Amino acid sequence: MKALVYHGPNTKSLDEVAKPAIIDPGDALVRITHTTICGTDLHILKGDVPSCTPGRILGHEGVGVIEYTGSAVTSFKVGDHVLISCITSCGRCENCRRSMYSHCISGGWMLGNTIDGTQAEYVRIPHADTSLYPVPAGTDEEALVMLSDILPTGFECGVLNGKIAPGGTVAIVGAGPIGLACLLTAQFYSPAAIFMIDIDDKRLATARRFGATHLVNGGAVDAATAIAALTNGRGVDTAVEAVGIPATFELCQNLVAAGGVIANIGVHGVKADLHLERLWSHNVTITTRLVDTASTSMLLKTVAAKTLDPAPLITHRFALCDAMDAYDVFARAADTGALKVIITP
Ligand SMILES: [Zn+2]
Ligand SMILES: [Zn+2]
Repeated sequence: MKALVYHGPNTKSLDEVAKPAIIDPGDALVRITHTTICGTDLHILKGDVPSCTPGRILGHEGVGVIEYTGSAVTSFKVGDHVLISCITSCGRCENCRRSMYSHCISGGWMLGNTIDGTQAEYVRIPHADTSLYPVPAGTDEEALVMLSDILPTGFECGVLNGKIAPGGTVAIVGAGPIGLACLLTAQFYSPAAIFMIDIDDKRLATARRFGATHLVNGGAVDAATAIAALTNGRGVDTAVEAVGIPATFELCQNLVAAGGVIANIGVHGVKADLHLERLWSHNVTITTRLVDTASTSMLLKTVAAKTLDPAPLITHRFALCDAMDAYDVFARAADTGALKVIITP
């Protein structure tokens, strides 16, 4: 089969590789129908993720059809259409029993990291019963790829951890796919204002269409000054970091109101300063989280009910044989306007 393979920092290729086989009785083999590229894949290609070793098939998002099930799989059968969670979970270990699937003792973020991933014709899914979700009949399966990772991530790490509440004020730093996923799901809770901060006017215009009430171009104005002016000097109840660099985390510390929350989503590769000399008395909470995908079932219902529409996050489509072009377009998002690119084997 064809697969996009990581060969070490800055090296990847579309290779012909062996089709995966069932290893454990709880595995399922899924034929991929739609997959995508994540910003995390670009981090891997930069060499930021040492757990992902050369030879690994990338990708941790996708939908597909069950091709084969191991003898212990009871919830799915051959031919079922399934959503693949970016987090693999056994459902039984101590961390799974507290819904912290991201830290499952025999799971977590494995796909496209410590085991072969979804940017391929087929993928092996361990703990299939608790790591796959049935696709509701009649839903747009392409759009459901947004529920493998980015929507649960934006919702759990940004909205839930950020305690976004009716009437509250929210600043989201970073209007990429994850920031936009947070913006979409923040509106479940009717905040009074959602300030979107980015340096790309095209992404800010998208954020406006997705429901942002105010846009701040942090390249053109001082974002902290702008947010102070928009909040009577108070700051925001929730500051969401959706970039993953020190400057944006430090910016969040300048945006948060007393009693507020800084909710980090970004993948950070280097240390960032924490200004405790100012924040120590501000009753501020700082949260971090790897997505648990504990909200996936709920998000599937909101998509089925059409209260959440993930389809506008998709900007480009490629065949798997053009996956190298897909990476190029995704990596040059400032030029290409790419948000999420769908890859179809
Ligand atoms: Zn991802
Ligand atoms: Zn577990």
